[in-house]
Amino acid sequence: MDIILFGMQGSGKGTQGKILEEKYHLKVFEMGGQLREMIASGTPLGDKIKEIVNAGNLVDDDTVLQVVGEFVDTLQSDQPILFDGIPRTVAQSDKLLNLLSTKGRDAFAVLIKITEDEAINRLTQRRVCESCKGVYPPSYKSEECQHCGGKLVVRQDDTPDSIKRRLENYRKETIPVIDGFYDRDHLIEVDGEQEIDKVSKEMIEKVDYLFN
Ligand code: AMP
Repeated sequence: MDIILFGMQGSGKGTQGKILEEKYHLKVFEMGGQLREMIASGTPLGDKIKEIVNAGNLVDDDTVLQVVGEFVDTLQSDQPILFDGIPRTVAQSDKLLNLLSTKGRDAFAVLIKITEDEAINRLTQRRVCESCKGVYPPSYKSEECQHCGGKLVVRQDDTPDSIKRRLENYRKETIPVIDGFYDRDHLIEVDGEQEIDKVSKEMIEKVDYLFN
């Protein structure tokens, strides 16, 4: 069973995704991370994506579906995947579920719930490691990543305008996708405003049956 991790930007999907990855030996596909790698490559396509991402807009479906399709093709069919950051629209959801079913796969959704106010607080105050992409809250005072020693920086798209646009996209485009999983009884909801350990505990209690 593949897992699609949903949650507003800043909900802790990256952190919780790592916990699921280790516990259930999932392969993580992080759409935003893949796009940032394409931006770093400095190709014409990367430059085009950079403009879209920095403005907080969504990259076109053909590009994201191509990237995700190439990733799925590198794996054996019995290797479960954790998707983070895709699908973000109903059209992407239909295309992704179609792609997965042609490969004999099925996906269940896990939603980490936080309010929009909490998301804005977290996004305006977080820093990320330039090297390993670890995310740090404002309470972490050092300039260095505690895992790899990399430099902590503000993400280029964590500007007020971009944050506003991304949350608007989430509300308009992604919530209907989540509703679709709820309607098909394929959604697990977790309270994302608890301490990190408690979020993980609740999530694992609820997803465990999918892997046993
Ligand atoms: P994230 O790291 O998930 O916050 O994503 C960063 C940015 O990458 C988003 O604001 C979008 O510009 C772009 N992006 C990520 N995932 C998708 C997607 N599934 N479809 C289109 N654009 C995406």
